[in-house]
Amino acid sequence: CADTAMYHAKSSGRNNYQFFAPALRSYGFELLQWEAALRRAIERQEFVLHYQPQVSLGSGALIGVEALVRWHHPEHGLVAPDRFIPLAEESGLIVRLGEWVLREACRQNRAWQMAGLASVPVAVNLSAQQFRQDICALVAAALDESQLDPACLELELTERVLMDDEVLSTLQALKRMGVGLSIDDFGTGYSSLGYLKRFPLDRLKVDRSFVADIGQDGDDEAIVQAIVQLGRTLRLRVVAEGVEAWRQWRFLAAIGCDDVQGFLTGRPVEAGELERLWRAWRPAEWLQHHSKN
Ligand code: C2E
Ligand code: MG
Ligand code: MG
Ligand code: MG
Repeated sequence: CADTAMYHAKSSGRNNYQFFAPALRSYGFELLQWEAALRRAIERQEFVLHYQPQVSLGSGALIGVEALVRWHHPEHGLVAPDRFIPLAEESGLIVRLGEWVLREACRQNRAWQMAGLASVPVAVNLSAQQFRQDICALVAAALDESQLDPACLELELTERVLMDDEVLSTLQALKRMGVGLSIDDFGTGYSSLGYLKRFPLDRLKVDRSFVADIGQDGDDEAIVQAIVQLGRTLRLRVVAEGVEAWRQWRFLAAIGCDDVQGFLTGRPVEAGELERLWRAWRPAEWLQHHSKN
């Protein structure tokens, strides 16, 4: 049975089985047991969202948060998404999980606003499979039940989603609803750049693999600079992911990148902790810091 599942994982075009094998062994689970556990976890609502701040390089302000799902496993503790999202995608469970994530992120963002925090977008990651469902209806329902302003929801897509020309009309409909659209992990996909002008996008998220060696690797710096230029020309905001150090902040500010997201300005944390962090946020201090360090 495990072989069959692995075959499916391989045939999806991503090398998922390389990932499953060690993950499986380390948990001592069979693949299908994992799938059953995941299914139960959805029923029992064992998932939790963590939130990571996004910060403007110009003002130091917190300008958005990304919702990142974790599985609160009764025995294994907090399981990272890289360990179960691929399996959720293969098994189709991502549709139900993704629906919960969307609803919960909208509810939480509205709750923060009601508690007096600034209105900023919450970014939600979407898998390609979710576009086979009526994603517009789902988004409309999540906005309606939470009473969240559509401008306070941003959907993160991968280049994989944009490889399918049929999603164009879906994305246009989402855009008409007023939600933001961004491309995640930009620069790591296989698609042509033509989609950047075809699709109604708002933001590019520079993959953290290019950001990691800023200050050490001139090639990576050139790539990041080219992406920022591209974003400017196409009037897209650019956010750099995985910013951990001041040298990266300084470089990104100097080349005109708009925003950063990374451990430097905050790790993903539970909603309550994010709220405390947010209330104590002093934008000016972020800017001062960078000139000193
Ligand atoms: P992503 O959307 O690119 O999210 C950013 C990932 O980078 C997060 O990992 C975050 O914790 C990590 N990160 C942020 N700042 C730094 C940094 O400074 N240094 C380093 N080394 N890492 C940093 P996480 O939370 O483990 O999520 C991994 C991936 O799982 C996400 O990548 C996303 O593709 C996927 N994912 C997470 N939540 C969801 C979800 O609700 N739905 C779907 N479909 N995918 C999700
Ligand atoms: Mg993301
Ligand atoms: Mg990313
Ligand atoms: Mg990713």
